[in-house]
Amino acid sequence: MVYATGVCPEDAIPLDEEGKRVDFNYDYCKGCGVCAKVCPFKAIEMKEEGKE
Ligand code: SF4
Repeated sequence: MVYATGVCPEDAIPLDEEGKRVDFNYDYCKGCGVCAKVCPFKAIEMKEEGKE
């Protein structure tokens, strides 16, 4: 199984000491959408910046 934190080419999904995702680093994220595509739990949803 592939988890999103291992696929981000920009290291924009930092992990805590237990190896769990803690947040996105939007300064590093390029919006490629790979993390959302590979997440088997549909936990990540892409949204256009500035729109909610
Ligand atoms: S959209 Fe791309 S760059 Fe941004 S967190 Fe996901 S995989 Fe990383």
